[in-house]
Amino acid sequence: MPALSEVLAALDALWPPERAEQWDAVGTVCGDPDAPVSRVLFAVDPVQEIVDEAVELGADLLVTHHPLYLRGTTTVAATTFKGRVVHTLIKHDIALYVAHTNADTADPGVSDALAGALDLRILRPLVPDASDPSGRRGLGRVCELAHPMTLADFAAYAAARLPATAQGIRAAGDPDREIRTVAVSGGSGDSLFDDVRAAGVDAFLTADLRHHPASEATQNTRNGPLALLDAAHWATEWPWCEQAAAQLDAVSDRHGWGLRTHVSRTVTDPWTAHAASSLPNTPTHTPGAPR
Ligand SMILES: [Zn+2]
Repeated sequence: MPALSEVLAALDALWPPERAEQWDAVGTVCGDPDAPVSRVLFAVDPVQEIVDEAVELGADLLVTHHPLYLRGTTTVAATTFKGRVVHTLIKHDIALYVAHTNADTADPGVSDALAGALDLRILRPLVPDASDPSGRRGLGRVCELAHPMTLADFAAYAAARLPATAQGIRAAGDPDREIRTVAVSGGSGDSLFDDVRAAGVDAFLTADLRHHPASEATQNTRNGPLALLDAAHWATEWPWCEQAAAQLDAVSDRHGWGLRTHVSRTVTDPWTAHAASSLPNTPTHTPGAPR
């Protein structure tokens, strides 16, 4: 059975912490380097229900994509929800390790897993990492569909291929428009519109798209119309958990560690319900009445 320090060194080699953004907080949150590790759970969010799942599973290590503390703290008292997470982990000898923006830009990274879940052919990173001579690392991926689809069909396809959430997939653009190329970025992607435009793709699939950037992107047709697909943040990043678990499995096999890896299927997207409007929908407003 490997010591935690050996497993953490393997995780650091997969997603070097120095490749994380400066504002990020990645690496080991808690854990005794000498403790033995046999079971590892992968999840997107280090929230209480995931930690409870790790306890039930008898995991020794929890690997999450999102950091527990991004901005530092002065307390881990169990009266705070994050402190409760820390208490539960330490009480049950479970280490917590985070791979966030260093996993986003890795090869393979979060967007490779997203493209894989959608069975897309990856052409290149959307924003290549200049320090990677192979040109494979970077943020987002520019991809080709195996078969061109209309936007309406591609939205339905993505909703069926990604893990189910209350949100499903929102789309913007002509539903009959043919989609051949798509840029994908796991997590919040609305800072990437300039890169998506420059890539000249038919569509952009990401999460957390806000009104103004989305409105501007669909109005700006200088390089042809851009269709948008907005999935739940959690759903775009969950495929990475399976990819990451398989990567650790390969390391474990190489070393003869016999690790047992698990991927949490608990949906931790914060949005839990969705009421679709009845379409077609005409806003009702009586002139002169307050809106
Ligand atoms: Zn995220």
